[in-house]
Amino acid sequence: MYICGVSPYDFSHIGHARSYVAFDVLYRYLKYLRYDVVYVCNFSDVDEKIIRRANEFGEDPIALSGRYCQEFQKDMDDLQCLPPTHQPRVSEHMEEIKEMIAKVMTNGYAYTVDGDVYFSVDSFPEYGRLSGRKLEDNRAGGRLAVDSRKRNPADFALWKAAKPGEPSWDSPWGRGRPGWHIECSAMSAYYLTHSFDIHGGGMDLIFPHHENEIAQNCAACGPESNVSCWIHNGFVTIDDEKMSKSLGNFFTIREVTQLYHPIALRYFLLGTHYRSPVNYSISQIEIASESVYYIYQVLQQFKERALKRADLTEEDILRAIEERALARKNKEFARSDQIRTDLVAKGIALMDIGTETVWRPCVRRGQEQPAPPAQLEQSAAAVQKEPPVAPSQLKQSAAARQKEQPAASLQPPPWSCALAISKEDHDISEGTTDYTLSHQGNKYLEINWTQ
Ligand SMILES: [Zn+2]
Repeated sequence: MYICGVSPYDFSHIGHARSYVAFDVLYRYLKYLRYDVVYVCNFSDVDEKIIRRANEFGEDPIALSGRYCQEFQKDMDDLQCLPPTHQPRVSEHMEEIKEMIAKVMTNGYAYTVDGDVYFSVDSFPEYGRLSGRKLEDNRAGGRLAVDSRKRNPADFALWKAAKPGEPSWDSPWGRGRPGWHIECSAMSAYYLTHSFDIHGGGMDLIFPHHENEIAQNCAACGPESNVSCWIHNGFVTIDDEKMSKSLGNFFTIREVTQLYHPIALRYFLLGTHYRSPVNYSISQIEIASESVYYIYQVLQQFKERALKRADLTEEDILRAIEERALARKNKEFARSDQIRTDLVAKGIALMDIGTETVWRPCVRRGQEQPAPPAQLEQSAAAVQKEPPVAPSQLKQSAAARQKEQPAASLQPPPWSCALAISKEDHDISEGTTDYTLSHQGNKYLEINWTQ
């Protein structure tokens, strides 16, 4: 899976967050389905905006983009996006980019003018197959000045001749830097070969970026080149207006996460289908924040009940965590393991997250389950003695039993199982006193209403 990354020249905005949170969910889901996923998300660190910003600050463009790459990664960590398998930077893949341009040139799809290399869209009749645009719709004009050196105004740069104050690299066409589109073609081919499953990005990348990528890939590699599935996420709008710097309705991830928890932002972004626009407003993020708070509040209640079952206080557990940390520091691993095992036996699991250890409720394991309260044993014995109950009498009988039984909490069995049942492929038979579930003659489950 290759997802187009950011141009790191400033803090990333919530439109970026939307894209990478959506693809993080896809990545996590594919992994959950046990696919072996190679997830590549690049940094477009050789870019006009970066060069402009670096010149304004009097800073080296690669150093400036390196700084904002780190800020982006911090934002992604805050949003709990898993790190991609590879996060390549354009500046580190110049050789692959030049090799690909050379292939496009050799195959007759590109031409040079004064040290620039342009892709000739007229040489690729399928141009427009992703976006559905026709070449005549793509004629430059309007706001853009037409470069008269191009054979067709829609031709796009694969390599740009060096200009003063810009970073540049040697190439067979003179010093210069790559065009934007070729970087993703070259890096996706490097990490995933010319044929891979998923290519994604924001909806604004369909044209021209991804359209141009297809043209370059096919020009370089012919029919070998193939992306099975293109996925594009929708925009973020602010108070129902398109988010833009010029309108002043622009929020960086950092601005939002300073006031609202990053999980609230993630929750908010995932509340809408990935392809639909998401409207960001203060009231919407506050609703998301409140919802997430409610979920965590309930989780706290789960922890409180777990402490009660274990007959421990939170302080007891924190003391055990400290004791375990000390044992580990002193390399007394048998002791540290024992602390953990003892807690698991009481239904408390310790989890090491980075340098921190946290706890959560878990299934009690590793020692005999506590005997059920005397009342429950008595009551269960009494129920077993009852004659079988027909389903028609069940409602009444269950209600009656509920009255008879004191409110005793049933202990979970010392085993657990998960069943996926489909009606089509299993026999579920209803008898007078029980249900059985069988498949291909094997009986898997029997429910006896008297037990
Ligand atoms: Zn890209």
